[in-house]
Amino acid sequence: MSREPVVRLEDVRFAYRDRSVLDGVSFEVERGERFGLLGPTGSGKSTLVRLLSGVLRPSAGRISVGGRDLGGYPPAELARRVAVVPQETALDFPFSVLEVVLMGRAPHLGGFGFEGDRDVEAAESAMTRTGVADLAGRFFHELSGGEKQRVVIARALAQEPEVLLLDEPTTSLDIRHVVEIFELLSALSRERGMTLVVVLHDLNLAALYLQRLAFLKHGRLYACGPPEEVMTYRTIRDVYETDVYVHRNDLTGRLNVLPLGSVTAGSRT
Ligand code: ADP
Ligand code: MG
Repeated sequence: MSREPVVRLEDVRFAYRDRSVLDGVSFEVERGERFGLLGPTGSGKSTLVRLLSGVLRPSAGRISVGGRDLGGYPPAELARRVAVVPQETALDFPFSVLEVVLMGRAPHLGGFGFEGDRDVEAAESAMTRTGVADLAGRFFHELSGGEKQRVVIARALAQEPEVLLLDEPTTSLDIRHVVEIFELLSALSRERGMTLVVVLHDLNLAALYLQRLAFLKHGRLYACGPPEEVMTYRTIRDVYETDVYVHRNDLTGRLNVLPLGSVTAGSRT
């Protein structure tokens, strides 16, 4: 991996009207890196994703992608570089799955907005890789939550971005599909040098698949580094305010986090 930052945040602040949500967040993500954004509900992860995709503008500070300030991008050009898999996707119009995935091609289309063979190919390849090719003719709004999520990931892949932002992409999937999606994402980062910024709650998945993690708490960056360095008992307890046991898994060699609840409370009092 070349040590070239593709995403850079410098002292980013953001407030929804007078409600401060992000307070001086700075970090860099390198090209091809698999980077995780973690932290409790309400800590500002989705807001950070909206800032990185250009939907929101920071109240102060700077965000750049590929060395260029986000504010300076024409929307279609930013969309060729950055794709988003949002936390939830609702489409009211009865689009077919193929139509939804083809929407990912919009930033690549020429002036008349017609799809060519290259666009259909990219959409079909993305559907095959996410296991939704069989659903191509179905209505998106009739799919299960997990199927929808895989279609939205296919739409983002069809976009062929350099940076893929995913906001809790596997929360509604069963364990097999969770693993399939993370294996696919890892393969894309290795094969195409795609940069991944993934919001997730599952610390064990984060340690298994991601190379660096940023922990947010109350809109501030609490810790940032490889799982080995930041997934400590102390950090997790402080960030999530719950007791956990952190240990190394013999089989994977990665760290595992086990919630303790009140089970061990008796032995501590
Ligand atoms: P996370 O994704 O980590 O759960 P969010 O970024 O969604 O956190 O939210 C961070 C904070 O910003 C929360 O307190 C939330 O209530 C608030 N918030 C999120 N979206 C809006 C909005 N559109 N208007 C006002 N406040 C918002
Ligand atoms: Mg969120």
